[in-house]
Amino acid sequence: MDKKRSTLKISSSSVLAERSWSGSGVNKNKAMVEHLQHYGVITSKKVSEVMETIDRACFVPDGTPPYVDSPMAIGYNATISAPHMHATCLQLLEENLKPGMHALDIGSGTGYLTACFALMVGPQGRAVGVEHIPELVVSSIQNIEKSAAAPLLKEGSLSVHVGDGRKGWPEFAPYDAIHVGAAAPEIPQALIDQLKPGGRMVIPVGNIFQDLKVVDKNQDGSLSIWSETSVRYVPLTSRDAQLRGCCEKQNEKAPLTARG
Ligand code: SAH
Repeated sequence: MDKKRSTLKISSSSVLAERSWSGSGVNKNKAMVEHLQHYGVITSKKVSEVMETIDRACFVPDGTPPYVDSPMAIGYNATISAPHMHATCLQLLEENLKPGMHALDIGSGTGYLTACFALMVGPQGRAVGVEHIPELVVSSIQNIEKSAAAPLLKEGSLSVHVGDGRKGWPEFAPYDAIHVGAAAPEIPQALIDQLKPGGRMVIPVGNIFQDLKVVDKNQDGSLSIWSETSVRYVPLTSRDAQLRGCCEKQNEKAPLTARG
């Protein structure tokens, strides 16, 4: 089943995508969260608490403004997603990020969302990041060590791995929540296989035109899929194709700036 949803919340977040509050002198993490609440992007108390606890400043490269509502380059043709996209994905996955649950973050980049997931599932749960650029895995671990999720990394309920995210990470499957931070031409079968019945995956799908798809695995193993909103993410591709700045199967320039 593939149903399209269109809600007020979506249109308010796309208005917000054009907005930056850095110029208005608001430059603190808490203020960023309050703005996302004010514009109706964050409605969940849990998500606002987590985003207040995990300071984005720990996750952006030096010299990059951390609280602007826009994706920012992190090197290797990758970006850290915009705060409103992080908030949207956390809210979509909230029910599948309860204490003790297992969460997989594909294309974990800076490690920001992996850290948020780890905080939500807690020490009895599992938050796993998979990223195919080894240098980003190293820097994401350093970022997490500076953040409120550091104890979870130390205890081992949070881990980040170098790997091809299209294959998932079978070691800790099945997952209650899977987030994919890069746009796939189609939903990888390995990720569907590693999703628990009752689990939810959030994944941008498409090439130039992309939809953020929400994939629910029902108890009988069937899938319910809908499109939450239009997005623009970097491609989920091979490491070589990403470093060349090209899509793997299309010999054309990939969209390297993402709203996601
Ligand atoms: N959620 C991350 C998004 C980073 S951008 C953040 O906000 O920091 C998308 C990431 O996906 C990039 O870091 C890119 O290197 C990674 N990526 C792309 N294709 C991949 C693949 N096949 N396997 C693992 N990671 C991949």
